[in-house]
Amino acid sequence: MNTFEQFLKIKSDKVFGRYFTATKHIKKGEIIKTELSYTAIPDSYATKKVCTNCLNFFDPHCSVFKCVSCDNVKYCSEACQEMDMKKFHNLECCYLNKLITEDTPLGYTLDYQWLLIRTLIRYLTNDEEKGNYLSSTFKDVNLMCSNCECFDSEKLLEFRNIALSIKTFLDANTELKEKLKIHLMFYQFKKEESATIEKVFGKAYNEEANETDFKILSFLFILICKEECNSFGLYSFKLEGNKSPRQPFGLALFPLSVFFNHSCYPNVGYVTRNKSIIFYALMDINEGEMACISYVGIKDSLSKQERKENLKKNFFFNCECKKCSNEGGNMVEKITCHFDNACFGWMVPTKLVKDAKFNENEFVCEACLN
Ligand SMILES: [Zn+2]
Ligand SMILES: [Zn+2]
Ligand SMILES: [Zn+2]
Ligand SMILES: [Zn+2]
Repeated sequence: MNTFEQFLKIKSDKVFGRYFTATKHIKKGEIIKTELSYTAIPDSYATKKVCTNCLNFFDPHCSVFKCVSCDNVKYCSEACQEMDMKKFHNLECCYLNKLITEDTPLGYTLDYQWLLIRTLIRYLTNDEEKGNYLSSTFKDVNLMCSNCECFDSEKLLEFRNIALSIKTFLDANTELKEKLKIHLMFYQFKKEESATIEKVFGKAYNEEANETDFKILSFLFILICKEECNSFGLYSFKLEGNKSPRQPFGLALFPLSVFFNHSCYPNVGYVTRNKSIIFYALMDINEGEMACISYVGIKDSLSKQERKENLKKNFFFNCECKKCSNEGGNMVEKITCHFDNACFGWMVPTKLVKDAKFNENEFVCEACLN
C-alpha cells in the first residue's frame, strides 16, 4: 500500500468496508491528500477543448496539434503531442478510430472504454513511476473493489460487450496480450467475481482447462466493474461558466483515493487540477473521525428520498449520514458559493485557486473567485 499519509489512515469493518479516518486533528482548510491519477482522459466531447496529454484547456490564441492519422486527440504543444503519441496514442489510435467511426457514439461508454485502454497500455508497457508517493501502480488499481454482484443485469450486459470490444484491442496488439497473459498467470478471481462471470458469460473460468482467452475476457470484465465503482470525474467551470454546476471534462483513476466514504454532509471537499486531485478539509475533523466526500452534487434540488435512491442505485448503499438521518445539518450553505445565489461554485481554500489573493485558511469560490 502507498505510503505517505500524513492525515489519513485506512480502516475497515463490515458496515463501511474500507474507509479513511483522520490520524490527527485536521483544521478546516488544510490540504489533506493529493494524488496524481494512474490514468486520465478528456471526455470524448471535450477533446476539442482540452489537451489529451496534459489536460490543459486550449488557449484560443495558440495552435493546436493533433495525431497525423486521426482526429480524435488534440494537443496544446508539440511536446505534449510527442509524449502522448509515444506513451499511449500510437498503440490506441487504430482501435479508437474504429470505435468512434463505427457504432460507439461519443459519450460516457466510450470515455470509460478509452480510460481502460490507457490503463491497460500503461500497465502492460511497464510505465510505472515507482517511488513517487503521489502516484499509484496497477496493483493499486487492481485492489479496488469491483462490487460486480451489485450491478443490474442491463449494466452487466453492457460491461460484457465492452470487455469483448477491449479484448479485440488486445488481440490486435499481440505483444500487449502476451504480457497480460504472463501477468494473469497466477491471477485469481474472488468468489463473487467468479459467480458474476458465470452469470454473465454462461460459464465460469476453469483454472484446469487453462482457457487463457476467457481468463483475459473475465479479467477485463471485472476491471470495468472496478473502474465503474471507483473512477472520478474531472471538473471545471470553463465549459459553461459558473451558472451551471461543475462541468465534467474528463475521467480518471485515483486508486489511492477510493477510500473516502460518502456523506451528504461531507467534511472533505476536492478539486481536480489537470491529472491530479486535491482533497481539503471543509471543517475541523477530529482524530479518528471518518473522512467523507460527497459522491454526488450537493447543490441540487433532489429531496432526501430521491438523493438516497440515487446513492443506492449508483453506489449501492443506504446513506445513513447525518443529513440523511436527521436532515438537520445543511452543508450546501457552507460549501457552495454564498456570494451569488446563481453561482454553482464550491468554496475551496484560497491556496488552491490560482487567481485568488492568497490568504491562509480562508476559502474562496472557485468559480467566481468571490
Ligand atoms: Zn498539453
Ligand atoms: Zn490517432
Ligand atoms: Zn446521506
Ligand atoms: Zn461563486
